[in-house]
Amino acid sequence: MKPIRLSSAHVGEPELKALSNLLCPNTYLGMGDEVLHFEAELANYLGIHEKYVVAVNSGTAALHLACTTSCTKGHEIIVPSLTYVATLQAISAAGCKPNFCDVNIHTATLDLEHAKSIVNAKTKAIMPMHYAGNSHNLDAIHHFATKHNLRVIEDAAHAFGCTHEGKKIGSFGDLICFSFDGIKNITCAEGGAIIAFNDEDAKYCRQARNLGIVKADNDFDVNNQGWRYHMSNIFACIGRVQLSRLHSEFAPKRQDLAKIYYNELKTLAQNNKIAFLHFDQTNEIIPHIFALRILHGQRNRLKSALAALHIETAIHYKPSHLLTYYKSECILPRTMQLYSELISLPLHVEMQKEDIQYICHNIQKILN
Ligand SMILES: *Cc1c(COP(=O)(O)O)cnc(C)c1O
Repeated sequence: MKPIRLSSAHVGEPELKALSNLLCPNTYLGMGDEVLHFEAELANYLGIHEKYVVAVNSGTAALHLACTTSCTKGHEIIVPSLTYVATLQAISAAGCKPNFCDVNIHTATLDLEHAKSIVNAKTKAIMPMHYAGNSHNLDAIHHFATKHNLRVIEDAAHAFGCTHEGKKIGSFGDLICFSFDGIKNITCAEGGAIIAFNDEDAKYCRQARNLGIVKADNDFDVNNQGWRYHMSNIFACIGRVQLSRLHSEFAPKRQDLAKIYYNELKTLAQNNKIAFLHFDQTNEIIPHIFALRILHGQRNRLKSALAALHIETAIHYKPSHLLTYYKSECILPRTMQLYSELISLPLHVEMQKEDIQYICHNIQKILN
């Protein structure tokens, strides 16, 4: 049996064709028309004005710009410890301090009750991460943020194409950050975007992604720190094709594969050996990962047994407050519990129904 990979990009003929049209003599590979088209198409997809969409070269760059536009040195940002380290690097790169928040045991998303107990005078933003595409509690988070005068920076790296109460993630809110890296719901190879629903923020992000350069007829100026975060035409070209394939190909495939997992594993869930994460039925999810909880201390045994069968899995994520650079004495019991229970099973567009059945058959054998 060949190894089953945890995740994979799905690119082929359509992307190749678009790239071969772009890669001709005298083509421009920097930030040009392809990027402008990609931004306009993202705006159109989200149903928002294109002035709010700023394409950048990674999700991490999007998060960093969102932090620098909303916070300055010394400010604190409430963030779940259970997130990818990119979220934390964005916060610290902006000179801010992460204020680690626990998560809800059923959803693995930010626990608002805990956030209420740690918000303080230095807190300037709250950064929910839509774990596995789940925007659980987003309205309540906005309500809390308004009350405490906080900015809301959504780490929506898992949630491109997902909806919250019928509205697309990125079609409303404050600052929303997407990633289009190689394994996300759509890819540019590397890329990301910030949606900034404020003219000042959007203008700042647009300048800061391009070394802070402000152009004025035949001259230019720089007023702020900037970075080399702009997106290249090559990456935008791939992203445009991927966006056009999301709802016709990728979303139904990911959703079907997840359904097979639920179906094949439901007896284990009924027998309390595993627990699925909870999702609000009013939200549509395009699952970027398929994570579940393995109960009764069996996770590591399962993970090793699957590895021996060449089935790749992952733990999303090692809590950030345990990392040397971000070490903190905070007590996050549900984060630690999930860290010992969570496993992410293979999920990507190149998988077949039989792959999932094979994985589930083995999980049943190992856990029973
Ligand atoms: C992928 C990801 C990022 C970073 O995106 P890049 O495009 O890889 O820089 C940030 N946060 C989360 C939760 C992610 O999954």
